[in-house]
Amino acid sequence: MKSPQTLIIATAANRGIIYAPAGGAGEYAPLAVNPYRGCGHGCRYCYVPAVKHMPRAEFDASAIPRENFLARLRRDAANLQAVGVGGQVMLSFSTDPYHPGDTSLTRQTLEVLVEYKFDFCVLTKGGTRALRDIDLYRPRHDCFASTLTSLDDGFSHKWEPRAALPGDRLAALRTFSERGIYTWVSLEPTLDAESSLAIVEATHSFVDLFKIGRANYIGVTAKTDWKSYTLRMAELCARLSVAHYFKQDLACYLPAGYPNRMRVEQHR
Ligand code: SF4
Repeated sequence: MKSPQTLIIATAANRGIIYAPAGGAGEYAPLAVNPYRGCGHGCRYCYVPAVKHMPRAEFDASAIPRENFLARLRRDAANLQAVGVGGQVMLSFSTDPYHPGDTSLTRQTLEVLVEYKFDFCVLTKGGTRALRDIDLYRPRHDCFASTLTSLDDGFSHKWEPRAALPGDRLAALRTFSERGIYTWVSLEPTLDAESSLAIVEATHSFVDLFKIGRANYIGVTAKTDWKSYTLRMAELCARLSVAHYFKQDLACYLPAGYPNRMRVEQHR
């Protein structure tokens, strides 16, 4: 298999549907795909409309399949396979694969990735909607992840009004875990430090890995002490012996030499 650098060169060159995410997104996965344009979850903290130069109302209205998506996905998968590029492809950064609308394209996407021998990882706030496709997950290859900002329904509803409620997301994580699928939780954005700490306490028995980030440019976190949060989270993860990764904008608060591996093997 080719090196990550080769991955980036190959995917940048074809400017494809399968791409190598950069910056903070690149800390999540080496490769990614976004089958839809827009997302119906309506998260108040979502940065995607600004990045995509898309009116927020249009982005929030619904997720629309990208034009000719499956044919372009097949072309990219075949091209990358031909030059020896493989590994894990993540869904999704600029949409949610289990948004509230028609997500049949998500299943087709996973099927194509399997056909071309890519591993996949699904990151979603769609909760148990994702269980429809659980038969496609291969325990030694694929993984399932969910973003959680709180365990409280009211808090979640305020910030992520049309996403699945926290209990439903936990139910999905638990089910995938029971099927032998590697699971992880994204604690990004951290809107409330106490809530994120409580999520780790409540879910570590069925979550294999926590990816921990902060929130930027959101007023509610203006007074958050990120150093204190980072050190408390590190202490909690050590006490519970849970695998975790601090994203770079929090890793600066860790003691020198703290083991903080970005890419861990995401299978059991
Ligand atoms: S689920 Fe993700 S892409 Fe969709 S609105 Fe929320 S933050 Fe944006």
